[in-house]
Amino acid sequence: MTFEVTILGCGAAAPTGKHNPSSQIVNMHDKLFMVDCGEGTQLQLRKFKIRFQRINHVFISHLHGDHYLGLMGFISSMHLLGRKSTLQIFGPPELKEIVEIQLRASQTFLEYPIEFHPTTFDEKRLIYEDRSLVVYSFPLKHRINCCGFQFVEKEKKPKIKKEIAKAYDLLPSNIVALKNGQSTLLANGIELTPELATLPADSIRSYSYCSDTAYSENIMAFVEGSSLLYHESTFLESEKERAKTTFHSTARQAAQVAANSKSKQLLLGHFSSRYANDQDFRTEASSIFGQVEIADEGSVFQVNY
Ligand SMILES: [Zn+2]
Repeated sequence: MTFEVTILGCGAAAPTGKHNPSSQIVNMHDKLFMVDCGEGTQLQLRKFKIRFQRINHVFISHLHGDHYLGLMGFISSMHLLGRKSTLQIFGPPELKEIVEIQLRASQTFLEYPIEFHPTTFDEKRLIYEDRSLVVYSFPLKHRINCCGFQFVEKEKKPKIKKEIAKAYDLLPSNIVALKNGQSTLLANGIELTPELATLPADSIRSYSYCSDTAYSENIMAFVEGSSLLYHESTFLESEKERAKTTFHSTARQAAQVAANSKSKQLLLGHFSSRYANDQDFRTEASSIFGQVEIADEGSVFQVNY
């Protein structure tokens, strides 16, 4: 099952020729979730051929402009493109008024409904659930209210062995019984047990997104055991003091969170434009964590088992 992250923007603060402001698309089981929506996000969707109307859920971490100033354009374009289905927006409570005032000023009457889901910043909370996945928000340590998001697969059922499926005519009722751990009687009188006919379910994968945050040990518990952890690394250790005063992290600190939370893989982003070579972030983080990836616009990262 698909579980991957496409980077639309991974630069900090103002857009540059090198990086767009923050935005990502999480594809989980072929459902597309937008995470943050910095300026220029629409153009990135066009560039990387991601269809606007496939996105039904947008998650905004906080109200610094580099994380949400693309949202209004995205909402307007979907109206122009004839969207009818509801858009679910998860973000700080003030976001609803910010969007509504702009719609009112331009006398835009959207052809589709928006449902706002205000986020909170005090504890880890379940904010979305469907048949196969759940999404949590969790507080980060930033200059204004800010939360991260975690996408987690639900527990899966055991898989029917290929050779069993090939050898017997399994009815849907046989498959349901086996996947639920029960023995089942086939039409030809043979009884199949789950031990004989199934393989253990795939393990559960999770993706955690820590957008803007100072180094915080609290975060480690929220993202524990992530298959893939995105953690901002605006700075390198040489700017550690600056990271502290601006409530951002260094690459080394991000790696510390990855290591202490026992995450499997670390993805770094939100790079300050002061650095010429993004690989320096990898070098710094790699000194304390093995599996480090560097975000870049258009790159797709798999969330592995
Ligand atoms: Zn910020």
